[in-house]
Amino acid sequence: MSSLQYKALKGMQDILPPDIYLWQKVEAVAREVFSSYGFQEIRPPVVESTNVFTRSIGENTDIVEKEMYTFTDKGDRSISLRPEGTASVVRCYVEKNLHTLPSPQKFYYAGPMFRYERPQSGRFRQFYQIGVEAFGDDSPRMDAEVISMLRHCLERLGLKEVTFNVNSIGCAECRPAYKEKLIEFFAGGLDTLCPDCNRRYSSNPLRILDCKVERCKDMRQGVPKVTDSLCSGCRTHFDSLLSFLELLGVSYTVNPDMVRGLDYYTRTTFEVTSENLGAQNAVAAGGRYDRLVKEFGGPETPAIGFAMGMERIVELLKNTVAHAFPTPDVFLAVIGDMAARESMVIADRLRGKGLWAELGDSGNSLKSQMRKADRLSSKYVFIIGDDELKSGRLKWKKLSDSSHGEISMFEITDFLQKSSS
Ligand code: ATP
Ligand code: MG
Repeated sequence: MSSLQYKALKGMQDILPPDIYLWQKVEAVAREVFSSYGFQEIRPPVVESTNVFTRSIGENTDIVEKEMYTFTDKGDRSISLRPEGTASVVRCYVEKNLHTLPSPQKFYYAGPMFRYERPQSGRFRQFYQIGVEAFGDDSPRMDAEVISMLRHCLERLGLKEVTFNVNSIGCAECRPAYKEKLIEFFAGGLDTLCPDCNRRYSSNPLRILDCKVERCKDMRQGVPKVTDSLCSGCRTHFDSLLSFLELLGVSYTVNPDMVRGLDYYTRTTFEVTSENLGAQNAVAAGGRYDRLVKEFGGPETPAIGFAMGMERIVELLKNTVAHAFPTPDVFLAVIGDMAARESMVIADRLRGKGLWAELGDSGNSLKSQMRKADRLSSKYVFIIGDDELKSGRLKWKKLSDSSHGEISMFEITDFLQKSSS
């Protein structure tokens, strides 16, 4: 035999029980909260033409420069695994003429994203996002609504110690002047800035504010604030957003350094961070992108969205919130061949009613079957042997408090349904 060993690719993980229950919980809560805000699910493909991403995310971003999984397919087309969701949703919005439907159109998506990053805690090459996009409303009311929706989502999950960082990075009108200020500010420090930031200096100086290299962080002391350079339209929009957040009771921190890593943002950007994670502390992020639909060939359509990072949210849940995983409703401990046949039927009937029933192996001793029920943390154990079949009455035991009793065969479903509701 060869000693070949198969391993998941670096940065890609298997999500297994019991963690999977936390994933399902996050998904269920998100779906519920998003639905009550009128967001509906869409499922774009995981692969798109490469230019769907390069044009929208921006040629000079980390994602496009270094992180995309790009391939040539058998038809000689350049295709890429999606590194994020917004570009696909916008491509779909324009292609399927969703702008002809009444505004605003509100969507959410959930699924895997792919970025060729250096894997580390909280950073993977395949990771999952749940994201939302709202099209056709440029009012800061929509920004507040979307941010508050994210707040409710995290609150419903029990995640309280999070910070909502908000910022406005201006628009096509006011950002060029701010870029000029940055160019002036960093001009004398190019020798100190990292090589990436040197490139950013000429391609997109805003991105220097996002750099995580220590000496670049130091260089940013006293850097002009984007919020001091906003035009009056952006200023009013941002001030209104902040007042709406106050109205809705969302606590926030204005963070003028937070510019986000994608080119398509205009005006509002936001990021939710947690103290209870390591270096990768952003659990969700988003912003407004009022020009992107037009860039994709659609009509001018303002839009805003965010994406939550599933792995980091699940990690937070694990670290900070107590949770109970599902366990069997009943374990049928079986003695003898007749009972083995009959208990198959009972288990099958219970399962048909939506109860989780585990079946013991009549070849094992009652004691070992009880041990197994214990290991599975089954809520109840029923014992089924020849005597029980004859009398039609079963012994039950509740494992959490060792209470026990007897019950007629015909009442099993009722009994379990009542105790599990
Ligand atoms: P970061 O600064 O952590 O790299 P980002 O700005 O690249 O984040 P976005 O593109 O805005 O992140 O994605 C939104 C969220 O998706 C992030 O806040 C994070 O929770 C999650 N995320 C992004 N990249 C990864 C990754 N490689 N692995 C796991 N989660 C990720
Ligand atoms: Mg990143």
